[in-house]
Amino acid sequence: MNVLVINCGSSSLKYQLINSDTEAVLAKGLCERIGAAGSVLKHTPAGGDKVEIESPMPNHTQAIQLVINALTDANHGVVKSLDEIDAVGHRIVHGGEKFASSTIITDEVLAAIEECNDLAPLHNPANLIGINACKEIMPNVPMVAVFDTAFHQTMPEKAYLYGLPYEYYEKYKIRRYGFHGTSHDFVSARAAQILGKDRKDLKIIVCHLGNGASISAVDHGKCVDTSMGLTPLEGLIMGTRSGDLDPAIIEFIANKENLSSAEINNILNKKSGVFGLSGGVSSDFRDLSNAMDEGNALAKAALETYSYRVAKYIGSYAAAMNGVDVIAFTAGIGENDARVREMVGQYLGYLGASIDPVKNKVRGEETILSAEGDKVTVMIVPTNEELAIARETVRLV
Ligand code: ADP
Repeated sequence: MNVLVINCGSSSLKYQLINSDTEAVLAKGLCERIGAAGSVLKHTPAGGDKVEIESPMPNHTQAIQLVINALTDANHGVVKSLDEIDAVGHRIVHGGEKFASSTIITDEVLAAIEECNDLAPLHNPANLIGINACKEIMPNVPMVAVFDTAFHQTMPEKAYLYGLPYEYYEKYKIRRYGFHGTSHDFVSARAAQILGKDRKDLKIIVCHLGNGASISAVDHGKCVDTSMGLTPLEGLIMGTRSGDLDPAIIEFIANKENLSSAEINNILNKKSGVFGLSGGVSSDFRDLSNAMDEGNALAKAALETYSYRVAKYIGSYAAAMNGVDVIAFTAGIGENDARVREMVGQYLGYLGASIDPVKNKVRGEETILSAEGDKVTVMIVPTNEELAIARETVRLV
C-alpha cells in the first residue's frame, strides 16, 4: 500500500510517498511560497535527482495537484496514476483533549480539529487547508489525522495542570498538551525494540532535540510528562524559542522596550533560544559549535545553558518516574551533535549513566552510548515522524 504523508503549513507543504509494505520512501518533496510570488515545488524521487518545478501555487489545492503531477510524471514520477495512492496521512499539530490517538478523517473529525484552532492558530488552520485540498483532488482516498499532541494525552492531571485559577482550564482548556508526540512515541517504542525489551517494562526519557525541542517521560509505555505546554514555547531552550521563563519577564520587557504582548511573543518564539543567547550567532548547532571553537564566549554560554536545561529536565523526569532505564537522544541535534550529548552526559553520573566518548562520535545511527553494565542505557534513536504517520495511516485504513 502507498501512503502519501502530508505536513501542511500556512505557506508550505512537505510530503513523502511511502510504500508501507517495504517502508521505503518512494519520493519526497516540499512546496514553498504557496499563495505568494515565486512558488516552487522541490521533488526528489528515490534514487533520482531533485527536480525544482517553478509554478504558480495560488492555494494549497493547486500545490497538492502539482505534487500529484510530480508523483505521476513520466520522467521523475514514482507511480503511474493517482490510483496507486491508497491513503493519505496528515500531520495535525493540535488535537486538544479531543484526540488521544490518530483517527480516520470524517466531517465530524474535521469539525473537532477546527474547534482546536484556538490552541494552535498558526498550525491547525493550515493543517485543515491541507486536508480539504486533498479531499478536493482525491475525494475517494481514505485519510487519517495523526496528532502531535495525542501521545501526551495520557499525562496525569498533576502533570498537565498549570498553577493558574482552575476556571481558565475549565473555560479555555488552558493546560499543558505537549508536542512532537509522534516522535516521542516512535522513539520510545524503537528504543525498547532495539534493547529486545517490551516498552511496558521500561522507564524511558526521550530527548527530541531538533529546531523545536522537547523531552518526555514514558513510563511503562505511557507518556506521563513532557516539556512543551499549551504551545511549543515551554520547556527546553530551543533554536529560537526561549523555553521556560519567569512569566513576569514579559511585562518587564513590555515596559522597558515599549512592546506589545504580541511583539514579545514573537521575540520569545523567533529571536530567543540559542540564537538570542548567542547574540545572534545562529540557531544552528553546527554554527554555534564552530563559533565556540573559535573562542566565541556567547556561543559557548548558549550551548552550556542549553545542555544544562536538558540535564535538569532529565533529572526531573527521573524523579517523576522514580527512576529511569533508558535515555534516548533523537532529532537533528540529538542524533548528530556529539558535543551537546557529551555536555548533557556530564550531568548523568548520579543516575548511573555515562556516555562513552568513542561511541559518542556516531552521527544519525541507532547506537548505544553508555558503557556495558551502566544502570541506565543512553542511546541515539533516529526519529522518523513520516514513517510513524504512514504506519498509523495503514493501521486505521
Ligand atoms: P526540525 O525538524 O525541528 O526543523 P531537525 O530535527 O531537523 O529540526 O533539527 C534541525 C537542527 O539540527 C538544526 O538546526 C541543527 O542545529 C541541528 N543539526 C543538524 N545536523 C547537525 C550536525 N551534523 N551537527 C550538529 N547539529 C546538527
